[in-house]
Amino acid sequence: MLSSMAEYKCPRCFAPVQRAQAGAVAHHFGLVGALIGMAFSGFACSKCGPIAKKEFTLEEQSLMGRGSAMLVVGGVVVLAAAIGVLIALG
Ligand SMILES: [Zn+2]
Repeated sequence: MLSSMAEYKCPRCFAPVQRAQAGAVAHHFGLVGALIGMAFSGFACSKCGPIAKKEFTLEEQSLMGRGSAMLVVGGVVVLAAAIGVLIALG
């Protein structure tokens, strides 16, 4: 679901690249951590491994920046919703 939000081509082999796994942060903070962790993690090609952001075209870099911002906003919205529920229940 989340990986379909943004798909980029590897600048070396043109295979699809995906955002690297958010890792421990995601496990600790759940969905919010996963969203924000993904926003700040790098990209990895299934064949070439991690790809530096500067290897992508400028157009793709600006798309990535927008995608990262959307992930952070998504994380904040989820967090705000959770706090709202807690306030409503309390
Ligand atoms: Zn590649």
